[in-house]
Amino acid sequence: MSVTQDTPLTDLPGVGEARAKKLEKLGLTAVGDLLAYYPRDYEDRRKVYAIKEAPLEGRVCIAAMAAEHPRLSRIRKGLELVQVKVADHTGALHLTFFNQGYVERAIRAGEEYIFYGTVEEQGRRRSMVNPIFERLGKQSFTGCIMPVYRLTAGISNHLLASLTRQALPCAGGLPETLPPYIRQDHRLAAAEFSVRNIHFPEDEEALALARRRLAFEELFYLAVGLSYLKTRRDKGEAGFAIPPRPKEEFLSLLPFAPTRAQSRVMDEAAGDMASGKPMNRLVQGDVGSGKTVVAAYAGWLCAKGGYQGALMAPTEVLAEQHYKSLSALLSPAGVQVGLLTGSLTAAEKKKTQAALAAGEIDFVIGTHALIAERVAFHRLALIVADEQHRFGVAQRAALAAKGGKDTAPHVLVMSATPIPRTLALIIYGDLDVSVIDQLPPGRTPIATYVVREDKRQRMYQFVRQQTAQGRQAYIICPAVEENPDAALPGEEAAALNLKAVKTYADKLQKEVFPDLRLGILHGKMKPREKEEAMSAFASGRTQVLVATTVVEVGVDVPNASLIIIENADRFGLSQLHQLRGRVGRGEHPSHCVLITGTRSLEAMERLHTLASTTDGFKISEEDLKARGPGDFFGNRQHGLPQMKLADLAGDMRLLSEAQEAARQLLEQDPQLTAPENRPVWERVCRLFADTPDIFN
Ligand code: ADP
Ligand code: MG
Repeated sequence: MSVTQDTPLTDLPGVGEARAKKLEKLGLTAVGDLLAYYPRDYEDRRKVYAIKEAPLEGRVCIAAMAAEHPRLSRIRKGLELVQVKVADHTGALHLTFFNQGYVERAIRAGEEYIFYGTVEEQGRRRSMVNPIFERLGKQSFTGCIMPVYRLTAGISNHLLASLTRQALPCAGGLPETLPPYIRQDHRLAAAEFSVRNIHFPEDEEALALARRRLAFEELFYLAVGLSYLKTRRDKGEAGFAIPPRPKEEFLSLLPFAPTRAQSRVMDEAAGDMASGKPMNRLVQGDVGSGKTVVAAYAGWLCAKGGYQGALMAPTEVLAEQHYKSLSALLSPAGVQVGLLTGSLTAAEKKKTQAALAAGEIDFVIGTHALIAERVAFHRLALIVADEQHRFGVAQRAALAAKGGKDTAPHVLVMSATPIPRTLALIIYGDLDVSVIDQLPPGRTPIATYVVREDKRQRMYQFVRQQTAQGRQAYIICPAVEENPDAALPGEEAAALNLKAVKTYADKLQKEVFPDLRLGILHGKMKPREKEEAMSAFASGRTQVLVATTVVEVGVDVPNASLIIIENADRFGLSQLHQLRGRVGRGEHPSHCVLITGTRSLEAMERLHTLASTTDGFKISEEDLKARGPGDFFGNRQHGLPQMKLADLAGDMRLLSEAQEAARQLLEQDPQLTAPENRPVWERVCRLFADTPDIFN
């Protein structure tokens, strides 16, 4: 049978309906899919040992001759045993196969085989249970580097490997999609070679070459796609030209002078907005660096220019807070600030929506409900997305479509999660980036301590001391209710003794701080209750806020000087850094206490890293090392296509090569219209196929 890329898998021997269904779960329906289904790992089965020389750890290949005819016995119903002794010049090996009756006929006395399995030794007797075996000289899965695939129930690695082997011949028909000069410049292996060797590598070197080419390819198409977006934006769409105004006019509204970094970023945003092209700018700044001022400035410019702006926050708590501070700041300047969140009553929402449509509100603050519920604007020219390190390309594209047919609104994305620069380049490949790399003056660094349970009383003492001085404190717990099932299997959770916010708050109030005013805040509360809890804390009516991580982003209460984080080892470093950023926002010396009961040395080390630095970039790099890029890339909320082979965090060198190659290509052929670049364009479209809204 001649197999092509389009041959359905059901045409391959051994694939019936049932198997085909299971393969489909892995995304495999045609032969071509197999070729593009890369192994997740490899097993080196190249070295073949003599029986007595084989190591006892791990699985190994042994070449030996069957010294007798296999013996089949039925131990009891449902348990068949085949035993056979094999030998070489160093000694004998006793093989046992369970429930593989066919082995009795498959192994013949006097023939030579390769056996792959784990050698066990008792006294001088060596044995192996259920080895994989093949006739010597007719091997396909022993004596080679074996691919290890991601599997699903009912599909074995052996099956996938043999199907892929059958698919290999059509690798010859794979078109070379990379432009030849790029392959040459970057010393990349050919497509066919790479596909063959990614599955069944001849040796390590061939595997490295194959991997490099295929990873480069992925990164290249990704980079082309993103730069294409950027060029299209720079050249194409018209934006609202918002006239510049004397900055002093805005600064006079502020109770403080901006830092140099803030000032620079404000100028960059104002420059974008005046340019007549839509702004697409990311403002990165560590927690507490003062990003809100930049948003306020952009909103002010926009309103003064006669347009509307919208600020989207990830939580209602944060939206409320921004609404309060921005309306206090901007209304003296005659800017009408409105609030639109999911928790408003239908009537309130209607009123705000009507005011927006009529152009009576200049700057509206809200949650994402703002875009979700079809809001009609009068003259929307600016969208600010706050605290959105996961604000993906697709979401931005959807938003930009709100501005109207011909003119795209300015988009300002603010992120406090410092992303390693190289990653930012990719996630935000289509954005210009501003960095606020300076904290407002007078901040004292937050002292961070890692403590164990035995320090609990001293820590409560510390809360008393801080509140006695007029300060406030956060106590953060990981879970809402004592409902271990929600997060973890019961026993494990009980063992971890997760502090649940409700129970814990009650206990603290009754037994530990009967004299203090405690508040509680968690995600399961009604929006109104959340708002009340937050404003009670912000105004100092409550002194201690027992909360879940809902306070993680953006919440700003400068009088809070202490944050205690329970079960700290359960959080990622970047998240802890965000939480810690809730204090140290005013002039008071601030403290962060990380409580942990962990016995893991690694976890302790991570917590100590956090205690030793307040540099958000350094922390996120540590996080990346310890937890992999999952936090940044795991859930695909960034909206970027999934990479199969390339590791966005690990392949930095290759990534910058791919970006450079993409830049060159688009410089010569910005629209990718040249016939020889058609394959590239098609691949880019295919890569972004799951991310609609982008290439429409
Ligand atoms: P973030 O970057 O985390 O969003 P915010 O914008 O919430 O930071 O600012 C943190 C705190 O610092 C706020 O209380 C804000 O009023 C204050 N702040 C911002 N810029 C300055 C400045 N230049 N001088 C003094 N305080 C500032
Ligand atoms: Mg903020």
